[in-house]
Amino acid sequence: MYVGGSVISSVEFHGNMSLVLFMSKCPLACRYCHNVELLEDNTEKSFEEIKHEIDSSADFLDAIVISGGEPLVQTDAVIEILTYVRQIGLKTKLDTSGIYPDNLKKILDLDLLDYVSLDVKTTFSKYRKITGANVGFKVKKSMELINEAGVHLEIRTTYVPTLHTKKDIRNLVDEIEADVYTIQQFRNKNVLDPALEKVEVPNPHDLVALASEIKPYFNGVVKVKSGEFGEQII
Ligand code: SF4
Repeated sequence: MYVGGSVISSVEFHGNMSLVLFMSKCPLACRYCHNVELLEDNTEKSFEEIKHEIDSSADFLDAIVISGGEPLVQTDAVIEILTYVRQIGLKTKLDTSGIYPDNLKKILDLDLLDYVSLDVKTTFSKYRKITGANVGFKVKKSMELINEAGVHLEIRTTYVPTLHTKKDIRNLVDEIEADVYTIQQFRNKNVLDPALEKVEVPNPHDLVALASEIKPYFNGVVKVKSGEFGEQII
């Protein structure tokens, strides 16, 4: 399996100490992608190596987070890891772009997930502008599958001033259903499209104002995540 790195984190799975595994590869080319080095990373690890990594920190871990890249490029590997994590009684979270609903369904059917964080990059009909591919309908399908399975769902959107309008976010909120909706601040360092390095980072107060505006129209918790203030519940 291709795993480009890992980190221990207290923020990726709220209230839980987690080991985050960054699965390499992703077929998309989101212009603001920060994980550029992971997209084509060829670092291979065996399941035994991953198992050893989990076991050596399991005493102080509550959860394993499978992130990327797009983890569902390697669905069999993800299932192998999550099955083991379930066996040893830790919680599980998957970060995904949602572009492989059939693969996601396999994992949901096996009841291997406690929490999914789904990146919804813009309204489902405008995906090509941000990702280079018209895959919004697949992401919508993934959202529906997660909700049908009753798994805790957080939807996140990275707000990029030149790629999104505030109206896009207002429209997006009408299209989604989740437990939590988080607007993330765009960061202009180490991004896939160098043109975005010149785009100003959005002011966190503006993001809070936008989140407050959409909150009445979203049936769940609304958050803002910024470099300055971390995670704020609106
Ligand atoms: S932001 Fe996520 S989905 Fe987009 S290219 Fe990067 S890893 Fe892939």
